[in-house]
Amino acid sequence: MTDLHRLSIRELAEGLSQAKFSSRELTEHYLQRIAKLDSQVKSYVTVTPEQALAEANAADAALKAGNATALTGIPLAHKDIFCTKGIKTTAGSKILDNFISPYDATVVEKTKAAGLVTLGKVNMDEFAMGSTSESSYVGATSNPWALDHVPGGSSGGSAAAVAADLAPFATGTDTGGSIRQPASFCGLTGLKPTYGRVSRFGIIAYASSLDQAGPMARSAEDCAYLMNVIAGHDAKDSTSVKKEVDDYVANLSTTSVKGLRIGIPKQYFNVVGLDADVKARVEESLKKLEEMGATLVEIDLNMTEAYVPTYYLIAPAEASSNLSRYDGVRYGHRCENPADLMDLYKRSRSEGFGPEVQRRILIGTYALSAGYYDAYYVKAQKVRRLIQQDFLKAFENVDVIAAPSAPTTAYKIGANLSPTEMYLGDIYTLAVNLAGLPAINAPVGFDKDSLPVGLQLIGNYWSESQLLSIVHQYQQNTDWHTKRAAIAEENA
Ligand code: GLN
Repeated sequence: MTDLHRLSIRELAEGLSQAKFSSRELTEHYLQRIAKLDSQVKSYVTVTPEQALAEANAADAALKAGNATALTGIPLAHKDIFCTKGIKTTAGSKILDNFISPYDATVVEKTKAAGLVTLGKVNMDEFAMGSTSESSYVGATSNPWALDHVPGGSSGGSAAAVAADLAPFATGTDTGGSIRQPASFCGLTGLKPTYGRVSRFGIIAYASSLDQAGPMARSAEDCAYLMNVIAGHDAKDSTSVKKEVDDYVANLSTTSVKGLRIGIPKQYFNVVGLDADVKARVEESLKKLEEMGATLVEIDLNMTEAYVPTYYLIAPAEASSNLSRYDGVRYGHRCENPADLMDLYKRSRSEGFGPEVQRRILIGTYALSAGYYDAYYVKAQKVRRLIQQDFLKAFENVDVIAAPSAPTTAYKIGANLSPTEMYLGDIYTLAVNLAGLPAINAPVGFDKDSLPVGLQLIGNYWSESQLLSIVHQYQQNTDWHTKRAAIAEENA
C-alpha cells in the first residue's frame, strides 16, 4: 500500500481495527518515508526504527487479542523536549547532546499506554526559544511547502514531519506560540490547551508558568484524538488541574457555529508588520465562519502593546532559573580539563548553550537581580494580570476571539532577523500563554508565494472541545486542511 500516509487518524484507526493493514505495515511505511524524504526536510533528530517496530508488533498483538485502544498501532513523533526513557532527549541543545532520560514524560507514558508507536524525536529551537527552529544545535529544519523556508518554531520539527507526511501527528509544546505558529507556517491544525490541562512532567522546562503541551496534526479531528490521550491531571505535576477530561472526539460536533459570537480585536488587525495576504486570508476565513452562522463582534484588547515586552521579561526570567540546572556536573555537556569548579561551570555553559539561550539567560538574570526585580519582574507580573483581565472582560461578550497566528508566513532560512524583529513576530500568540488560555491554529489558505496562512481562535478556559469543534466544522466546509506540500505527495 503506497498511500497509507494519506489517511486521517480516524481512517488509520478503522483500517487497523478492521485488519486492512497492520501496525507493522503502517510503521514500516512511515519509516521508509522518513528514510527517503527526511534528508530534505530534516525534521527528525533521532529516528527509532527498532523500538518503533517492536511497539508495532506489540500493537498488532493487542489488536488481534481484542485489547486495543482507539489508537493502538498508530505512529507519532515526539518533540525532542519530551523525556523518553532510553532515547536521547536533546531539547535542541548541545548541552543535552548526550542526555538519556531515566524516565518517560507523562505525555510519552500516556501515548505508549494508548498503544501509539513512537517513530522518533523531532527537531526544535534550542530549549524551545525561537520561532524558526534554526537555533537547534543539529541545524535547521525545512518547511515542506518551500524547502528554503523555515517551518516556524519552536515545534518546527513536529510541524515539518506532519506536513511532509513523515508522521501522522506529533506532540508539540507552546510557551509563547510554539504549537500555533509552526502549525500556521506549515498548514496544520495545532492546539495549545489551557494551562494545567496536559501534564508538564518530563517536559524539559523553558518557562514553567507558560509551558503547555498539545497536539499538531492535519485536522481538528486528528488533534482531538491525540488530546483524548494526553489530557488529564497528573499527580507528578502540581500545576496540572484536577478536572474531568472531555471526550474531544465525541464533542467534535457539539458546538454550533450558528449563533457563535466571534470577537475581532480592533488592535490586532492594525498591527504594523501584518502581511496583507495574511490579513486577507484570515478575513476570508472569518467571512466563511459568518456564512456558517457566526456573528463577528468587534472588541477591544487594550493591552496588545504590552504582550511582547511582558512575555520577554517573564519567559527569560523563568528560563534563567530553569536552566541553572545545566552546570556540567550532574548531566549534559562538560568542558574539557576545567581548571577549577568556576571554570567548569563557565565553560560548560558557554560551550553548551547557543547565543539565543545565552541572551535569554542574561535578560532573565538581569530582570530578577536585586536592584531590578521590582522594576522589571514584578511589574511584568502585574501587567500579566491586566492582560488576563482584558481577555476575561472580552469573554463576557464573545465566545471565542479570532486573530492571525502570526503576522507573516514562513521566513526564509537564514533570514537572520534581529532578536527584536523575531520577538515581534510572536505578537499574536504570547498573550494566550500569559493568560493561560487555550487557542488553536487552523490553515485558511496561502499567500502569493504559496506559503500557508493560519487563523487563530482563542477560547476561554477549558474550551478545548469548543475550539476543536469550531475548527472541525470549518474544515467540513472547506478544504484548506487537505492540501499537501509537493514533498508529501511523493511516495517512498
Ligand atoms: N517564539 C517564542 C519564544 O521564542 C515562543 C516559543 C515557545 O512557545 N516555546 O520564546
